[in-house]
Amino acid sequence: MLNPFINEPYLPCPKCGETYFGVLHISKFQYSRRCAKCGFPSAQDPPAWFPLLPVNKTVIYLDQLMISNMVKSLHPDFQRSVDPFFLEAFKKLDRLSKLQLIVCPDSEFYENESIFSAYPSEHKRVYELLSHGITYWPFWTVLRFEIHEQLENWFEKRKMGQTKYTVHNFVHGDIDEWQEKLLITVETGRWKNLKADLQTTNLNLKQGIAELADFWESQKDKDFDFWFQHELKHWKNTFEEGASKTIEAAMKYIQGLSVDPLEILPNSSYMILREIKEFVGKYTKDEDEIQKLTKEFLLEQIHHVPFVRIHTMLFAAIATKISSGHMKKDKINSSIASDINMVSTYLPFCDAIFLDRQMAGLLRDQPLKNCIDKMPQVFSMANKQEFLTYLDNIEKNTPTTHFEKVKEVYGEEWVNPYLTVLHPQL
Ligand SMILES: [Zn+2]
Repeated sequence: MLNPFINEPYLPCPKCGETYFGVLHISKFQYSRRCAKCGFPSAQDPPAWFPLLPVNKTVIYLDQLMISNMVKSLHPDFQRSVDPFFLEAFKKLDRLSKLQLIVCPDSEFYENESIFSAYPSEHKRVYELLSHGITYWPFWTVLRFEIHEQLENWFEKRKMGQTKYTVHNFVHGDIDEWQEKLLITVETGRWKNLKADLQTTNLNLKQGIAELADFWESQKDKDFDFWFQHELKHWKNTFEEGASKTIEAAMKYIQGLSVDPLEILPNSSYMILREIKEFVGKYTKDEDEIQKLTKEFLLEQIHHVPFVRIHTMLFAAIATKISSGHMKKDKINSSIASDINMVSTYLPFCDAIFLDRQMAGLLRDQPLKNCIDKMPQVFSMANKQEFLTYLDNIEKNTPTTHFEKVKEVYGEEWVNPYLTVLHPQL
């Protein structure tokens, strides 16, 4: 049997002359070949490495709506009709991804939302095909790094809001790497437990948003600045209340009372508060001073943290629309809280983003349009044709030498869209 790890395209072997000199291993700067017939080069021969060209992939974030509709378009058993746009988009995205021109990183939000779908495994199959193992860090982790960076800016008297972070800091995997043909993934089986937890969380979020919406509606004609300041004030309490849950659980545990073991684990708010205080503690040992500076940072500087800034602006934009009567409160999407977390985390770390109409509309409107640094290209169903053109242009603007290299490494057929990805495997 031929070595299953040696793939086409095959060239004539320099040793045995048979056309079995295939691709063995692909890495960032080079790829290797080996003969599937005679095994050349063997351990005694120098390895057969060939150079690759540097790539600078475009990072595109697709929201759950896009993934879900692509799954429906590709699934052989799905009966109802789906907008042909989604299949068209899939074909282009898959081709560009195989051409090593784009990557669509996946994220925790995919997994969290896929489990409520009728086809969770199929969702995973499709988003992993397009992400090829590139995964964004969870949002709490990104937030912690961003807070730490702004604390440094504040204490070192540097310009607040400036950041050295790029997408490369916040993903697992190397975006600008030529991908291997095979992708091995595992089913973690955590779906069952996660689903129950998420149902409770989602219910709480939904209720929280409904209460907020009532309040927004009751405050007539307040402007964006009012709502921005109003929302900003909550961050200090959010962290403090979150952290106190961990502390209360720990106290109960110490007193020997029954407590859910998971609650004793430090939650994200607790971690963030502790990290802020530890950071401040490097500058002063005075406990009152640490408390005072922590409070000051949370009240007066927190808006420089990119996640917090975008999050607050999005909530303020919705509040302004509802308070001014431009939006009915029952028109708020049920997934808004999770969508805002997702957008606030990844918006500065992609070149283009495809969102639902409501979220995309908020980002394209003033004041957000001009107030968010590093705003990527924003697409939704409202400008779906522009999205396809955007994808076409990525290919058009690529030099011929790149396509020749892709053909050399992966063969002719490789770039054809994988339309049978969800068909039963033989
Ligand atoms: Zn050979």
